[in-house]
Amino acid sequence: MIVAGNWKMYAGPDPRELADRLASVSGVEVVVCPPFTGLAACVQAGLATYAQNVHWEREGAYTGEVSAPMLLGIGAAGSLVGHSERRQYFGETDEGVARRAAAALAAGLDVIACVGETLAEREAGETEEVLRRQVSVLEAHARLVVAYEPVWAIGTGLTATPETAQDAHAFIKSLLDVPVLYGGSVKPDNAVELMVQPDVDGALVGGASLQVESFAAICEAAAAAA
Ligand code: PEP
Repeated sequence: MIVAGNWKMYAGPDPRELADRLASVSGVEVVVCPPFTGLAACVQAGLATYAQNVHWEREGAYTGEVSAPMLLGIGAAGSLVGHSERRQYFGETDEGVARRAAAALAAGLDVIACVGETLAEREAGETEEVLRRQVSVLEAHARLVVAYEPVWAIGTGLTATPETAQDAHAFIKSLLDVPVLYGGSVKPDNAVELMVQPDVDGALVGGASLQVESFAAICEAAAAAA
């Protein structure tokens, strides 16, 4: 079971307070994904720390980007790639996401690659086609995890039903044999029912990861579901 907190462009909780609270949670791999400026403090607090994105080159004229060796150099353990907000607002493509994932894995980072359909795609019956397109560019790797995040469920309070999540996870695993996390309005009160699904291997949590107590409660739910 893996629970990752995506702090997006928020300062997030105090890393030391979070680390203290999580010290009593066992049986779950807990990851935090702060903004770039928060990475060092999270590493220093002893939290498994991922960036929210990573570039495919080691260095170069890529203003606004950060490379895998740079992240490793400050003690980060991994990175998200392909979050729907990156795809939606910053024009990231399946091919670019795949390049970011491959370079990060090759450099030694863990990677959580995010996939998921929009509401229009789901309503048009295109969910599997979209997931196939997004997943097929990724190559299996021992340090690769996929996060299924239906775009219509992110930050909306509209959580996928456990059955919908299970179906999507099983489909993703039929394409790529890696752990699959669910993301999309995961809260303390819906975490267990999602994480007891056989193909749900944990959660990627946005809003509810910004408070120590709600994030810790989700981590405890994951431990109970493991
Ligand atoms: C996310 O940012 O990846 C996410 C799932 O957000 P939320 O939990 O707020 O829907």
